[in-house]
Amino acid sequence: MEDEKTLFQKICDKEIPAEILHEDDLCVCFKDISPQAPVHYLVVPRKPIVRVAEASPEDRNVLGHLLLTAAQVARQQGFDESGFRLVINNGPDGGEAVPHLHVHILAGRPLEWPPG
Ligand code: 5GP
Repeated sequence: MEDEKTLFQKICDKEIPAEILHEDDLCVCFKDISPQAPVHYLVVPRKPIVRVAEASPEDRNVLGHLLLTAAQVARQQGFDESGFRLVINNGPDGGEAVPHLHVHILAGRPLEWPPG
């Protein structure tokens, strides 16, 4: 169906369970179901922006809010000193699997660079 909710909209609307760390009127932060590091959270806008390449200038506020929220959650979880990584996968070669914009927060171990 054309206007069916995305997976992450269903999590934001609590139709699918997730371990939520933060929520507000613009975004929700929850634990990734398949963590790639000791800490792996996702910050998702309530608005179903498909991917960052499809965001528009009117999304400026929500895009900024996602980064500020990711940094706030990382700080609250105690990772401002040891460090953390924020990742946005975009499109097939970028490793995007879920077509609803999300910022990954990864922390809890030294992360390698470049990523695979
Ligand atoms: P992507 O590869 O699109 O950047 O990342 C999608 C992420 O969503 C993956 O890390 C994957 O583990 C996570 N994910 C997929 N389905 C679910 C789900 O139902 N619940 C939660 N909490 N995370 C999910």
